[in-house]
Amino acid sequence: MDPRLLDILVCPICKGPLKYDKAAKELICNADKLAYPIRDGIPIMWADQARDLNAAAAALPTEG
Ligand SMILES: [Zn+2]
Repeated sequence: MDPRLLDILVCPICKGPLKYDKAAKELICNADKLAYPIRDGIPIMWADQARDLNAAAAALPTEG
C-alpha cells in the first residue's frame, strides 16, 4: 500500500488516524478497536467490512 495513503485516510467513524498493520494488511483504529481490511492494495473503509478487535479478543477459544 502507498504509505502516503495513510496521511489522508482517517477512520470513517471517529475521523481519527489509522495505523497500518503490515503483517495483517489492515488499517487499525485504536479508538474504535476496528481493523479495516486492505484488499488488492485498496483500503476498505467501510465500518461493516471492518473487523471488530474487541469481538476478536472476546471470541478467543475458552473451552478446556
Ligand atoms: Zn475510529
